Amino acid sequence: MTSGLPAEFIERLGRIVASDDLPLVLESFAITKPIFARLNPLRAAPDETFAELEQAGFSPRRVAGHETALRFEPSCRDDLMRSAAVNEGRLYPQSLSSQCAAPLLDPVGAEWVLDLAAAPGGKTLHLAALMNNEGRLSAVEPIRPRMYRLAENLKRGGATHVKTYLMDGRAVERKTPDRFDRVLLDAPCSSESRMRIGDEESLRYWSPRKIGEQSRKQLGLLSAALRACRPGGRVLYSTCSLAPEENERIVDQAIRRFDGEIEILPFTIPSVIQRAGLTAWEGEAFMPELANTCRILPSSEVDAFFLALLQRHS
Ligand code: SAM
Repeated sequence: MTSGLPAEFIERLGRIVASDDLPLVLESFAITKPIFARLNPLRAAPDETFAELEQAGFSPRRVAGHETALRFEPSCRDDLMRSAAVNEGRLYPQSLSSQCAAPLLDPVGAEWVLDLAAAPGGKTLHLAALMNNEGRLSAVEPIRPRMYRLAENLKRGGATHVKTYLMDGRAVERKTPDRFDRVLLDAPCSSESRMRIGDEESLRYWSPRKIGEQSRKQLGLLSAALRACRPGGRVLYSTCSLAPEENERIVDQAIRRFDGEIEILPFTIPSVIQRAGLTAWEGEAFMPELANTCRILPSSEVDAFFLALLQRHS
């Protein structure tokens, strides 16, 4: 370990992140960050929950450009987790980076939306809120205890139109091709953004081998997501990893299988530091359009996140 992080991880970061960004990124693994949470309009009017939190002494702050996001000082973590607003589903603790995914996919009420890797359900709930419990929302999770947590969170959050499926997401390719208007794939990943200096548990399982294992699964899942999406529909792919093998390379390899049918759409996200996705890694060139994908840089405020918005043409 160097500076409390695995030496190989730091060496890789030096090749992934621009040298100007590296100090900020390295520092972000040592910092206790603020807590972010999402006001849940399915349970209560956001302004009422905001007032309730103020009255309870939490000093919530709005986040520019994120309508339902709130920021809290880290010192109130335990009290916030025990609060009535969290326990009764009016507030869902969720990193700001994670809160960027559902609005980018931009579902509208009458659509049929698939969340392909759903537990514990933070983004499923966010999609349900944006859809106002209208249309159809299907949520897939293959691990039974995580499925129970997903079901509990959906119930607590008042998401009434979600149908859950205990299955491997890769099976949707065969079972429901060309079906969904919108597909979210918040893929299982090496979770590099959760690593914290001093938190041995968060560092223990990191290895290049794990990145390789995850990337094989991610490619299968993204191919399935693209097949399950109807022509004309959209897929959002996200991970909380910084590894190009789990991000740009997966998107590059998956869309090559679709022979010109998939476009990578550009977008910007307010209130975070973002960088264009890489167009090359370790001597391998990706499609130039990979620059339309987005890396949220980890900082003293937020965790790292990767997002790619994909349009399947008719
Ligand atoms: N979107 C979730 C949220 O916001 O709460 C977090 C999803 S987490 C990053 C990835 C999830 O994918 C985990 O719950 C994991 O169990 C699940 N998963 C693992 N393998 C899978 C597979 N083959 N198909 C679908 N989901 C899978």
